[in-house]
Amino acid sequence: MTKYLLTGGTLANNQRADVLISDGVIVGIGENISHPDLTIASKIDVAGCKILPGLVDLHTHLREPGREDSETVLSASRAAAKGGFTAVSAMANTFPVADTAGVVEQVYRLGQSAGLVDVFPIGAVTQGIAGKALAELGAMAQSAARVRVFSDDGNCVFDPMVMRRALEYVKQFDGVIAQHAQEPTLTQGAQMNEGIISSILGLKGWPAVAEEAIIARDVLLVDHVKSRLHICHVTTAGGVEIIRWAKARGIEVTAEVTPHHLLLTDEMAKTYNPIFKVNPPLRTEEDVMALREGLADGTIDIVATDHAPHPAEDKECEWQNAAFGMIGLETALSIVQKTMIDTALMTWETLVERMSTAPARIGRYSAQGQGITLGSPAHITVINPNQSWRVDRDLVSSRSKNTPFHGMELPGKVVATFFNGVPTVLESRLVKAGNNA
Ligand SMILES: [Zn+2]
Repeated sequence: MTKYLLTGGTLANNQRADVLISDGVIVGIGENISHPDLTIASKIDVAGCKILPGLVDLHTHLREPGREDSETVLSASRAAAKGGFTAVSAMANTFPVADTAGVVEQVYRLGQSAGLVDVFPIGAVTQGIAGKALAELGAMAQSAARVRVFSDDGNCVFDPMVMRRALEYVKQFDGVIAQHAQEPTLTQGAQMNEGIISSILGLKGWPAVAEEAIIARDVLLVDHVKSRLHICHVTTAGGVEIIRWAKARGIEVTAEVTPHHLLLTDEMAKTYNPIFKVNPPLRTEEDVMALREGLADGTIDIVATDHAPHPAEDKECEWQNAAFGMIGLETALSIVQKTMIDTALMTWETLVERMSTAPARIGRYSAQGQGITLGSPAHITVINPNQSWRVDRDLVSSRSKNTPFHGMELPGKVVATFFNGVPTVLESRLVKAGNNA
């Protein structure tokens, strides 16, 4: 019998509450909880902290199978727990691609044996994420991994007929197509956002319209076939506008923004440091402000990390040759606090909606995103919003070190994470002396 009593914290709605966990379930919430077994609970002092439901990431590159030099399911699970996540979604662009029941089941089992977070495999939309023939969507949905989210992420599902068929096909099992919106002909060889900075630097530009054209096409397509569409990593003000328009018309579309696109701009490229090279690219200040506004008003439903580990040899080279991507699991919550909470754009309750409730709902992850409620699985994140910390790439749990936030002082420290009632992260100073459990 494993029991924990979190004392002295507040919930997302600022209400003071102790939380009692017993055998993986939240069994008590409130001040002065009484429970027959309370005396044998491990008491954890979380005074000054927020007790939030475990975070859910809908967009994570775990790199296994195939690129275990950059990340594994286990190392990404550790990084996720450290960042306050209790579930991640494993993107399909692995080697081999997760386009069959066999591969998604392999990833699912690796997640279970790591045992630190739920690992929900995302299935590829097309075979080999090549954009031509549909992958085994039904077989992946019916597999042990019970896949509901499908994406060719890294690549755009460019062919509108293929996109239409995929949207139609996933309706039978309530699936969703998560689109990496990048018009390929407009972005061939592109290196960064197309704008003033790209012309100064002489790097090939990536126009906003390349993203917006696909978003516009796909919201019209999903409206036509009445299925579910999710837009990955929106980065432009125009993209936010199109999604706002679509939602106003009642179109079934959801969207995500990454923490890095909420904070960083294409100005960073002036350093020529490829740590800031990412797909989709960092955009302008105006875009960043529109993304924050869209996230605050719910046009953008969720924050997703797009955690993209790469080994040093793929990042520490010339900009042109460097891989696209940044790691993000361990810094996501702090970046969202910095950009959305500390700026008074969003409350903690809304943050919970954007980083736990809504991503679980979109992915149909029924055991996640239930909030801090009686009888729910004890997936809990405890954060001290007043404790700042300095990002050190040498201390990350991820196997790759490509964080753009290295050396930055960030607000909000995850001090404990519980997955199914078991601490995956727990600062020892919180555990009260004299515990006998
Ligand atoms: Zn992507």
